[in-house]
Amino acid sequence: MPGSESDDMKRCCGLRGQPGHMAERSGFHKDAGKSDGLASMCKACKSAYNAAYREADLEKEKARHAAYREANPEKLKARRVAKRSEDPKGFWRSNAQHSARQRSRVRGTPFTLELEDIDTPDTCPAYGTELDYNGGKGRGSRNDSPVIAELEPRKGYTRVNTVTMSAQANNDMGRLSVDGLRHLANVIEQLIHARRHEQQGEER
Ligand SMILES: [Zn+2]
Repeated sequence: MPGSESDDMKRCCGLRGQPGHMAERSGFHKDAGKSDGLASMCKACKSAYNAAYREADLEKEKARHAAYREANPEKLKARRVAKRSEDPKGFWRSNAQHSARQRSRVRGTPFTLELEDIDTPDTCPAYGTELDYNGGKGRGSRNDSPVIAELEPRKGYTRVNTVTMSAQANNDMGRLSVDGLRHLANVIEQLIHARRHEQQGEER
């Protein structure tokens, strides 16, 4: 017997369905229950075995969750409602992110918004009106619903090109470009001025 080799080498039983192999004795965990004091599976095989076991466990867990979802739609709906009332802004934020991503996909425009890129102000930055984070799906979008507005149309949902504002402001903004809005504001200002002038003329 070439004793020296069997002194530091040992046969690993291998993973189930796979042939064993020789490995250094230092590559085995200790196992006092075994005659040679070492486990029958080497450390490498053991960790592969554990990983596979965990994966199978995860799959089982996933299937369990899916079955639960299917069997308890009402309970889950109640939980969603509870979650919304617990954290309306957080709830709105993930819904808004999801919808914006869908829109970007359909339009083929950029989308890079992470949750933390989406502001949730209490009031509309354009009009100062209070934003209602409890509306949204089901009740439809209203003037005081918060929306992620693109500052420049079609430039996409990126932090630099978006602001959370009221649906009202977003609709108003959406009708005209910045130049169009500026032109309209100037015209209105001139009209106000002209009317005041007219009135002053009459009073004289
Ligand atoms: Zn092995």
